[in-house]
Amino acid sequence: MPIPRRYSTDAIVLSRFDYGEADRILTLITPGSGKLKAIAKGIRRPTSRIGGSLEPFAELNVLLARGRTFEVVTEVRVGHAWLNLRDSLESAATAWYLAELADRSLEERHAAEPVYALLRRAYELLDAGMAPGRVARWYEMHLADELGVRPEVDRCVECDRVLEVDGRFRWVPSLGGVLCDRCPGPPHDRSGLTLEALKLLKAYQRQDVEAIAGLRLGLATEREVEAALRDFLRYVLERDARSLAFLDEIRQDTPIATAIPS
Ligand SMILES: [Zn+2]
Repeated sequence: MPIPRRYSTDAIVLSRFDYGEADRILTLITPGSGKLKAIAKGIRRPTSRIGGSLEPFAELNVLLARGRTFEVVTEVRVGHAWLNLRDSLESAATAWYLAELADRSLEERHAAEPVYALLRRAYELLDAGMAPGRVARWYEMHLADELGVRPEVDRCVECDRVLEVDGRFRWVPSLGGVLCDRCPGPPHDRSGLTLEALKLLKAYQRQDVEAIAGLRLGLATEREVEAALRDFLRYVLERDARSLAFLDEIRQDTPIATAIPS
């Protein structure tokens, strides 16, 4: 059967930029076609029919026509808009960060149903008022899983020994997780990890997100896990997310530095 010239799909806007006189180019994530680029022609004109609907932080249903370089957006319907998410600058900045991680993780036009579902759920949680940092860590951990690089937090990445609670641990992104105190590991790219942080990393892998939302945690432990997962994703994606600088800037408390190698 020939591929239809027009098709409709659910989509979430990952990024966008203005193009030419009145057009806009969007990067969308869709369940069936993964990441794709689409052009919305004339969208910045006041008369545009699709102008107000083609926005981030919403699940859209778009009608697309196949184009040579980009798909062309012909119709947009808003399925669900996560309006509360925009009320806090931190949750909006976090939403951009999660979108950027999805964008950077995916190849164009490869089905990405699990990543789509993950982003959709993260936006629901931000919209429902869950702490943005916890939504972000939960998403980072599950995104790594979907990318096939689930961090190892149960056994030493070098000797495969089960990690003991009374041991000392180091976090080594280049080896894919935690190193025990008997293994030397690489000379750089490692930082000490407390038992509390190790437990929290395990919780992000194993507990459902509602349980994570209710955990009582020390700020230092949350910051340690934040640094650990940032370092891990920086290693996996080969650079820092651009939106992190903004997220750090708008956060009220002190931004964290990268974990210091021990
Ligand atoms: Zn070991």
